[in-house]
Amino acid sequence: MTGAESEAHRLDKADPGHRHLFHVPPADGGRYPEAAYLAGNSLGLQPRATRAELLADLDAWGSLGVEGHLEGQRPWLSYHELLTGPVARLVGARPTEAVVMNSLTVDLHLLMVSFYRPAGRRTRIVIEDAAFPSDSYAVRSQARFHGLDPDATVLRLRPRPGEDALRTADVTDLLAAEGDTIALVLLGGVNYLTGELLDIPAITAAGRAAGAVVGWDLAHAAGNVPLALHDWGVDFAAWCSYKYLNSGPGALAGVFVHERHLGRADLPRFEGWWSTDAATRFEMTPTSRPPATVEAWQVSNPPILAMGPVRTSLELFDSIGMPALRERSLRLTAYLERLLDEVTAGRPLTVVTPRDPARRGCQLSVRVGAGSAGELTKRLRHEHGVIADAREPDVVRFAPVPLYSTYHDCWRVADALAATVAEVTP
Ligand SMILES: *Cc1c(COP(=O)(O)O)cnc(C)c1O
Repeated sequence: MTGAESEAHRLDKADPGHRHLFHVPPADGGRYPEAAYLAGNSLGLQPRATRAELLADLDAWGSLGVEGHLEGQRPWLSYHELLTGPVARLVGARPTEAVVMNSLTVDLHLLMVSFYRPAGRRTRIVIEDAAFPSDSYAVRSQARFHGLDPDATVLRLRPRPGEDALRTADVTDLLAAEGDTIALVLLGGVNYLTGELLDIPAITAAGRAAGAVVGWDLAHAAGNVPLALHDWGVDFAAWCSYKYLNSGPGALAGVFVHERHLGRADLPRFEGWWSTDAATRFEMTPTSRPPATVEAWQVSNPPILAMGPVRTSLELFDSIGMPALRERSLRLTAYLERLLDEVTAGRPLTVVTPRDPARRGCQLSVRVGAGSAGELTKRLRHEHGVIADAREPDVVRFAPVPLYSTYHDCWRVADALAATVAEVTP
């Protein structure tokens, strides 16, 4: 064992994390039985607690039938309320401001029904040029829905030439200069590709000062970085639960709407029977009575068997706490960064994630030779048991997540990269 590898083991003893709470896939190759799983930014690992909790919900259906709506350990009618406290604490929301429902892009559309209201000169939507494609398609289709030309309506923020990250001042300057044409700012809190954490409070303040509505896609931020959506004055936000929130493939999403918009009769919303006040829902009246909470944005009754894994995972975050996870995340990512700096020196590899820990979550993105991201990722997996995530053509993403990643996982990444990517001979 090399000195560097024993150092990794030493760090793991001193700072063990919570790996024992998760199922870790076996390695597909290499010298170690378990995979070094660095793809929690794409699909989080399964908590060991999830199976029993899910089976208990399934058993309630088996033993209670329709009576499960009102009876049993977790009656289905109010099941979503079990998730409200933990999800609100996770994102810094009041309990009236957060709910788990649908999937992410669907929720973005439901929120844009309320919060994208182009009028007069104020029609444009600001996104990042490197936005996740689903968000780009969503806002372009919203523009078309309002009879607008998506190319003229969607303004894409680009880093300065030669840079990989956006600068906060460039974004706030743009909002100040062109704010009267902007209806909606909809950015990723942590960019899926570069791992850049935007200055959410500063950009929110600048967008609102310019008269725009400011929403955030927190797919890569929820469960990765601490959030204070209420205090930051964010208008609305949505995030999925299958990345850092470990709730399983396609898991339900979370939604935040700021208190100042709750109960507003002037905001359009698409409604269904779950949009009406729960106390009078079964009076079966033809018109709804929406509550003055984010639950007014719910449409359908939730899929209970899909809520279970989200509940289990949120309870885990709630009991450990985001501040402690962020602390460990900063330590792990700094360690991986140091190892990557050693490996990338002299190789055709560049870390493109911001160097300032305050400007990123746990993910570090490495630019590799054009067209080689997929091939490199395959070799890491099959020759070294390292599971990373390729974004073609040229980015490989590594996310040491504080819940279950180890220092030894980080060491394996660096060791595998060194063995896989040839040194550049001068
Ligand atoms: C993962 C991700 C999505 C995925 O959208 P779904 O509706 O959950 O399929 C959307 N936007 C961003 C920014 C993402 O990172």
